[in-house]
Amino acid sequence: MPLKERLFQTLSKLEKAKALLGKVHPVAGMDGLFVVESESQPGKRYLVDLEAETCTCPAYAQGKTRPCKHQVAVVLSLWLREKRRAQVETRAAERPVA
Ligand SMILES: [Zn+2]
Repeated sequence: MPLKERLFQTLSKLEKAKALLGKVHPVAGMDGLFVVESESQPGKRYLVDLEAETCTCPAYAQGKTRPCKHQVAVVLSLWLREKRRAQVETRAAERPVA
């Protein structure tokens, strides 16, 4: 597949993952486990296991899209959290010591 088409697929998945950001919930007490609410089917939830690199959604089960948008959404939420943390630390470091 040409580069443009491949990247279009990647960007489209990223866009879908971005829309899922508010629907990503870490499972309390279970490191690396996340519940992601379905965008298309309200009430439906999928379990993403970061360690095992799995998701319980149909797309993942069919092996069509790996990583699926739920996995990308989980990693995107972690990435944004890390970025925010780094910015806070940078700001704290830049603050003049009185
Ligand atoms: Zn999935």
